[in-house]
Amino acid sequence: MPDKHTSSPIAFLDGSYMPLEDARVGIMTHALHYGTGAFEGIRGNWNEDEGKTYIFKLKEHYERMLRGAKLLFIDIPYSIDELCEITVEVIQRSGFTEDVYIRPMAYKGEEKVANLNLRALGDSFFCLAVPFGQYIDSDGAISCCIASYRRIDDTMVPPRFKLAGLYLNSILAKTDALSSGFDEAIMLNQDGHVCEGTGENIFVVHGDKIATPTLESNVLPGITRQTVIDLAINELGLKVQERPIDRSELIDADEVFLTGTAAHIQAVGSIDHRLVGSGSVGHLTKSLQDLYFPIVRGQNLKYLHYCTPASYLGVKKT
Ligand code: PMP
Repeated sequence: MPDKHTSSPIAFLDGSYMPLEDARVGIMTHALHYGTGAFEGIRGNWNEDEGKTYIFKLKEHYERMLRGAKLLFIDIPYSIDELCEITVEVIQRSGFTEDVYIRPMAYKGEEKVANLNLRALGDSFFCLAVPFGQYIDSDGAISCCIASYRRIDDTMVPPRFKLAGLYLNSILAKTDALSSGFDEAIMLNQDGHVCEGTGENIFVVHGDKIATPTLESNVLPGITRQTVIDLAINELGLKVQERPIDRSELIDADEVFLTGTAAHIQAVGSIDHRLVGSGSVGHLTKSLQDLYFPIVRGQNLKYLHYCTPASYLGVKKT
């Protein structure tokens, strides 16, 4: 376990490592005006015993980012392996000793306004990491509402990609939810079926049956979603249905939980003021949390291949 030191976040921007506070873009940057970026939210989980940060499913995140970049005609000069190496180096140079959130973005970085042709614009890439604890401030079960904003449809801006501009949809719903005293909003899609949280996928439990909306329901194909499906099947021996879910199924569910890189596995205790089950963290949600947390911290050898380790290098030069 290395000596404690002070971390100072280092960012990577268009080919160079630099202190995060020096990584700046101009006010004419296309992505700032129009949200023309494909990004990721990745967690680095601090393992105190080993003095290392374990980055969860790093490659899968970059695969998803590049799928979104393809839609936006963003071409960055790095392979997936190089993107993973850059990310590890950002963590190694920053020297964090706590959990971090990693934010890479491939975006239209050209300083050109009033141009709506993606193919006429130059591309940029950055990767930064910041200390990050709990996303939703609750150790127990949270309160949710059904958002009045519907999820954007695949025929509008495809939500299966993590595109910057798309997040206005989530942000409107999340802000309304918080303003009304809820912790999170659950969004319905255009046909009125349950879609996802504003930054999480959703699972509904009835008895020993777990269901989650299909990937064709305008959800983001969540990396935590897939991890939870695999753990439920392979470790708990359960069946997971991917199917359309009616809004009313939330009312008589035994358990509802949300999954996401930031939120981890988050129990939902009430929806629109109606208790879900007993209103506290359900048995199945708890079993999945107990499996998941050691895995993301590199403490379960069977799943160590899900994690990429990064140790502080002690170099502060950029
Ligand atoms: N849906 C949305 C809209 C999200 O923003 C996120 C967070 N990336 C998720 C689902 C969960 O995805 P993941 O498990 O890959 O973080």
